[in-house]
Amino acid sequence: MQRVNPATGEPLSTIDEHSDDEVDAALDTAMDTFAEWRNVAIRERQQLLSNAADVLRENKQEYADVMTREMGKPIAASVSEVEKCAWVCDYYAEHAGEQLQDKVIGSEPHAQSKVTYEPLGAVLAVMPWNFPFWQVFRFAAPHLTSGNVGLLKHASNVPECALAIEDVFRKAGYPEGVFQTLLVGSAKVGDVIADDRVAAVTLTGSEAAGRSVAETAGKNLKKTVLELGGSDPFVVLDDADVATAAKVGARARTINSGQSCIAAKRFIVHEAVYDEFLSQFLTELEALTVGDPTDKETDIGPQARKGLMEDLHEQVTASVEAGAIVELGGEPMDRDGYYYPPTVLTDVPDGSPAAEEEIFGPVASVFKVADEAEAIRVANDTNLGLGASVWTADLARGERVGHRIEAGCVFVNELVKSDPRLPFGGIKDSGYGRELAREGMLEFVNQKTMWIQDADGDAELSLSE
Ligand code: NAP
Repeated sequence: MQRVNPATGEPLSTIDEHSDDEVDAALDTAMDTFAEWRNVAIRERQQLLSNAADVLRENKQEYADVMTREMGKPIAASVSEVEKCAWVCDYYAEHAGEQLQDKVIGSEPHAQSKVTYEPLGAVLAVMPWNFPFWQVFRFAAPHLTSGNVGLLKHASNVPECALAIEDVFRKAGYPEGVFQTLLVGSAKVGDVIADDRVAAVTLTGSEAAGRSVAETAGKNLKKTVLELGGSDPFVVLDDADVATAAKVGARARTINSGQSCIAAKRFIVHEAVYDEFLSQFLTELEALTVGDPTDKETDIGPQARKGLMEDLHEQVTASVEAGAIVELGGEPMDRDGYYYPPTVLTDVPDGSPAAEEEIFGPVASVFKVADEAEAIRVANDTNLGLGASVWTADLARGERVGHRIEAGCVFVNELVKSDPRLPFGGIKDSGYGRELAREGMLEFVNQKTMWIQDADGDAELSLSE
């Protein structure tokens, strides 16, 4: 796999892809391991996850350096990402037991009925490069702990991250085969999904990849979870604290150098505060440092790949040709590496890429609206529905508006973020299913109904819960 350091454009060493035979052997190992792993006591699996949290914390700088080198994430954010992975491990290490406890249902006197939660087998995780550790841990922490085994097909530009994550589980003491990396390109994914040894698949990535994975999984009747793109609205109402909204909005758009599914992308601002918001938003964005991702002071690093930066610029150019006004930025930076500056577009016409498509880079579209009803209409005027943020001094109003926005989550007076304790996922073309929290845990278990009664069917039972 050919890797390039996005901060310099210089090639990194290549990493060999797995051959078909190696993939085949990994699937056999997954099956053999699953037969044992599913019977390991949940307490032991929780302990191993807790060990994984320790390994992450002990080696956080090393893992952060791998991320920054391969995909250009500013180093301070890479370190935070490793810490967040340790948090999701802590969370499930503490809660998996109660989340997977049998649920006893009110029964007949002569019988007991309950729901048990049993693993499915090998779950394939097709993952993106943008949060190369976090996306994988938010899959692996719950689903390995419920007794599944994991197969990671990571994005082709972050194979060293994939191998480093495998190393975390090895160092934590997991049996060989509970978590394996398949170093393959996307063309091989269909065959792996179709293989009888694979029980289910989760994909975090683009809409196009989601459609392709869902098609193959559907044909093969495999359970899927899809975490796809977003074009999150950031709604600023007339009673909002404009200074805070502008400050948080700048962070919400530029987090991970703008390459986040839940970054705020469309800023929908009430006309009463539009000028004030725009001016403060521009000031906040201008103050951000764009540059070397290995420098702790850097806010915005390079875009992860040359082609992605070119696609981003094409979206900006097409929007400007359609009539959008560039208030800030708008051209790739004149330096080595794939740097795109914070960019703000206003007067964005309907139908242009900045209005209609996911913009995966530090480019904000700002829309002026006349009232709350128009704000809700514009917020929902998208095929995507991942997250949304609403800014208002009136919390009841924030909640009311939040209920009317079509998204998997709404944050009032806060940027959209993921948190192990809260379910995460989208609606519409942003995908389906949930990750994190108990809702995420239950996606890849067999919620099995058990009915237990005496053979005569008349003795009163007192079975253990
Ligand atoms: P991507 O191109 O879809 O790649 C994601 C993963 O899918 C990679 O492992 C990729 O492998 C694989 N892939 C691509 N096309 C495929 C296909 N036709 N069949 C099977 N697998 C395929 O997405 P990306 O550029 O890495 O990531 C950015 C996208 O992810 C954005 O749309 C973003 O919003 C979304 N995302 C969503 C969430 C969420 O939680 N909802 C979180 C993060 C990112 P190769 O690298 O080998 O091509």
